Amino acid sequence: MSTVAGVKPVPFLIGGQWIQDTPSYITHVNPATGEVNYQVCAGTEAHIDAAVKTAHAAASKAEWRGMLPHKRAEILNKIADLMIERSDLLARCQMLENGKVWKECKNQVINGAATFRYCAAAIETLGSEITPPRGNYLSMTVYEPWGVVAAITPWNSPITLTCNKIAAALAAGNGVVLKPASYTPTSGIELGRIALDAGVPPGVLNVVPGAGSKIGDALVTHPLVRMVSFTGGTEVGRRISELAGRKVIPAVLELGGKSPHIIFADANLKAAADAATVAIFEGTGQSCTAGSRLFVERKVYDEVLSMIMERARALRVDLPDAPGAQLGPSASFAQRDFVEKMVEGARQEGSEILIGGSRPSDPRLAKGAFYLPTIVTGVTNKSTIAQQEIFGPVLCAMPFDNEDDLIQQANDTTFGLASGIWTADYKRAWRVARALEAGMVWINTYKQFSTAAPFGGFKDSGLGREKGLQGIRTYQQVKTMFWSMSDTFDGGFSIAK
Ligand code: NAD
Repeated sequence: MSTVAGVKPVPFLIGGQWIQDTPSYITHVNPATGEVNYQVCAGTEAHIDAAVKTAHAAASKAEWRGMLPHKRAEILNKIADLMIERSDLLARCQMLENGKVWKECKNQVINGAATFRYCAAAIETLGSEITPPRGNYLSMTVYEPWGVVAAITPWNSPITLTCNKIAAALAAGNGVVLKPASYTPTSGIELGRIALDAGVPPGVLNVVPGAGSKIGDALVTHPLVRMVSFTGGTEVGRRISELAGRKVIPAVLELGGKSPHIIFADANLKAAADAATVAIFEGTGQSCTAGSRLFVERKVYDEVLSMIMERARALRVDLPDAPGAQLGPSASFAQRDFVEKMVEGARQEGSEILIGGSRPSDPRLAKGAFYLPTIVTGVTNKSTIAQQEIFGPVLCAMPFDNEDDLIQQANDTTFGLASGIWTADYKRAWRVARALEAGMVWINTYKQFSTAAPFGGFKDSGLGREKGLQGIRTYQQVKTMFWSMSDTFDGGFSIAK
């Protein structure tokens, strides 16, 4: 494939070198305009092999593996500084590639930098443990890097998701090969440049973009890869887990969701309606934690739905860099077509489309992958639209009659990522929160995130946790040491002398 006239394809990073000479390129199309942004060099299996070997060599050197935690923390803090300095560039990479609105892109950079600072503070203060002995010895638990981590990210929020992985993996002392999604390669590439500039030794962090179907297996099955950290869809996650299982290496999986957002009649209905609107429509619905299944107690169902409709109608769907834009396009035309197909299917299944259900009529948006905020009702929780992840601005609203009925419906999904409960009754909030099969429960709020709190799912939504202190331990393996305090050997059977 030829390159865009006059513009060099964007190179990627292996061993501190910028790789430009590749047999093919990813042609990047802006989902807001349909225009070609640029081309990006696409990695091959040979590049993956080189990147993994380089990461292994660099991560094995004392310079990185033996670096004292406070020194590693200095580098992570420097990465955070450079991210803030280059925040416009990073945000622009993401906005051009997945159409996320500018403000959200900038916030992701700021939060990503905060993740590096958190990991810096954590690694400087996290200790080893002395465990209770059962004899005359000292027993200790120490934490060590896995070696080379394969970090595979999706296209919806590449800045946030890449920072979650590489900040913790680097803090823990690993080498990393990052494979960003083909739709969103350049923010990861720029983070690779920042890491180099901040003093991460060349080769410790490598970034190789390319289609998962072409280079994914080569990465996961490479003998020197000792851990996989994957965020993406459940089917790909399942395959990665199988491949990792055969190698007996851990795979941390952050997968899809179809999260129940629950409103009881006694809740603060205005705040709940605000939250329900943000929970599904922020990021154009392309969020794994989107509150995509709305359950409202029947006696306030109509009232709450009309409040959400009013709020959704007022949302500003616009070009991602337009001041005040709240929803950009879908991240790709293929994704918009999928959303459209799902809504059409729901229509044919007999559901009612309360608002949206079409592309916007504004001619300025005609060339982009836009779709209006959509609310679907008249469906049961068993319907396809209520069960399958859509990853678009589509809310599926359903009434419930009582707590038991609610819990049964809310848990009737293969997913278990997030959930939200609105009620004034704290005892009910506790009961329902404990009964929900989900890795995260928001009570009288939704989509609050903290780099200090573990993140991950139940059931088909994933395995393992990122973020928080647990998220750093994810990137470390455990070593137990027994250290005798005796001058004689006093274990096992006695030796005749
Ligand atoms: P995807 O599974 O298609 O792709 C994710 C990444 O995996 C991409 O980099 C892709 O190139 C790569 N990949 C594809 N096939 C591969 C293979 N065989 N081996 C190795 N890598 C391979 O997901 P997507 O469409 O990019 O992202 C959307 C999905 O991600 C949604 O299901 C969403 O819910 C999920 N997601 C989950 C979280 C979370 O934290 N739980 C966060 C964001 C997105």
